[in-house]
Amino acid sequence: MNKKHRLSRRRAIVSGAVGATAATIAAHRLGAFEQGDFRLRYMLGSCMYGYTDVAEVLAEVKKTGATAIDLWPKVHGNQREQLSELGEEKFISLLRRHDVRVGCITQYKLGPFGLQDEMRLANRLGCQTIVTGGKGPKGLHGSELKSAVADFVEQMKPHLAVAEETGVRVAIENHGNNLIESPDSMKWLAELSPSPHLAIAFAPYHLPQDTRLLGNLIRSLGDSIAVFYAWQHGMGCMEKLPKDQELLQMPGRGDLDFTPLVAALRDIRYSGWSEIFMHPVPRGIPILDSTAAVTAEINRSRTYLQECLDRVAAGSQTSEKRPSIQQTEGVKTMNEHDTETQERIVGPYNELSQHEAYVLLQQGTEPPGQGGYTMTKDPGTYICRQCNARLYRSDDKFESHCGWPSFDDEIDGAVTRRTDADGRRVEIVCANCGGHLGHVFEGERMTEKNTRHCVNSISMRFVKKGRELPPMIVKKEEE
Ligand SMILES: [Zn+2]
Repeated sequence: MNKKHRLSRRRAIVSGAVGATAATIAAHRLGAFEQGDFRLRYMLGSCMYGYTDVAEVLAEVKKTGATAIDLWPKVHGNQREQLSELGEEKFISLLRRHDVRVGCITQYKLGPFGLQDEMRLANRLGCQTIVTGGKGPKGLHGSELKSAVADFVEQMKPHLAVAEETGVRVAIENHGNNLIESPDSMKWLAELSPSPHLAIAFAPYHLPQDTRLLGNLIRSLGDSIAVFYAWQHGMGCMEKLPKDQELLQMPGRGDLDFTPLVAALRDIRYSGWSEIFMHPVPRGIPILDSTAAVTAEINRSRTYLQECLDRVAAGSQTSEKRPSIQQTEGVKTMNEHDTETQERIVGPYNELSQHEAYVLLQQGTEPPGQGGYTMTKDPGTYICRQCNARLYRSDDKFESHCGWPSFDDEIDGAVTRRTDADGRRVEIVCANCGGHLGHVFEGERMTEKNTRHCVNSISMRFVKKGRELPPMIVKKEEE
C-alpha cells in the first residue's frame, strides 16, 4: 500500500468525530450535547512536559482524561519539531499506537498569515485546529480597534480559503501586547469573522481575573471559541518564582474560581477543546520534575474543574426532587460510598495551595459564604482535601445559614476533637492527617442531634455519589 493511501485512511479515522465544514461543525455541536450531560473535551498540551520525547507524552494523553494532543513547538515544547524529525508516517503510527489524535498544532512563529503548509500538514494528520496570534496595531480601543480587527479579518481571507479547503480552524489566542488582547477585540473578531474557520483560543490568563467578565465573554463569543485554556493568571509566568507560586496558574490552585467559567461553557454547549495549561519559567522545561508528576498535576486541575461542573449541574437542577432536611431526618439513605471500603495508599499527602495550607495547616478560616460547598446539596461524600479520608456524608449536611458547610454528624472515627487554641471552642481535625477542618458546636438545637460541625469548604473535597472515591493517603500502613 502506498503512503498516500494509508495517510488518507488515517485521516478518515481521526476526523470521523468532528466534521470540518461550517455545516458539520454546527451539526456536531447540536448533536453531541443535546442532553443535560455536559463534559469538557480535553486536549493535552505537549509543552506541559517541556522537551520530553513525544512518544512519552503521547502515552500520558489518556491518563489525563484527554483524547488529543496539542503539539507545541520550541521554545515551549519541541514535539512539533520531533514530528518533523520522525516523519509523518512514523508519527501517525505512534498516534495510532496510543489511540490519540492531534487536536491542535500551536504555531506562533509562523503567524496567522504563514500557516498554509501547516494547515496542509494538519489536514494530513486529521488535525482540525491551529492556534496562533493575531497581527495588527496594539493597544487600540473603540472604533479604531474595530477597524483594525476588520483589517485583520480582511487580510485573513485568502488564508481562510486554505483553512476551509483543509478543514482547519485557525484559532487566534487573545494575548498580551497583541491586536487580539482585550475582551472587545475578541468580540469584534467573533463578530467580523467571515467563517467558522477563523476562531478564538480563549486564554483567561491574559484577561482580567474577573469571573463575571470571563463568563459573559464566553457566552458572547459562543461558537467562535475553538480552544479553551483552563489557565489562570496566578502570580504570572514571566519571572522565576518558587514552584508553588508558579503553579498558581493551574485551575484549582490560584484564586480564580472556574465555576462561573465552566457554567458559561455549559451554557453555550461548548464542544471545542479544553487544555489545562500553564507556562513554567524558563520555557521548555516540564512544569514539574517528572512525567508522572506533570500528569498528576494536570489531573488535580481536571478533578477541580469537574467539581466546578458538578456545582453548576447541582445549581441548575430543580430542587423539588431533592428531599428536604426535615424529610430525611432520622432516615439514612443508602449512599454507595458508605458500603465501599476506601482504598488506602502510603505516600505523600496531596499538595496544598497557599489558601488550602493556610486553613488546613495553620488553622485559618475561610470567609463566611465564600466557600464552595456552603450550599451544596448533592448526594455524596466530603473527603479531606489533604489526605482524601472520608469525613462527612451529604445526608448529615444541613443548612445552618452560618456561611459555612454544616453537618450534624461525622463519619465514624473520621474527625478528632480538641480544645481550640482559644481555649473556648472545640477544634475539629481530620483523624488521619490532622488537617484543620473547623469547629464543632453543641447545644444550638439546630437539628435533633444538636451538633454542628462548622467546616471550611477548602478543607474538603466533595465526591458526588456514583463517582469513585480517591484512595485515602496514609503516612504509614498500620501494623
Ligand atoms: Zn486528612
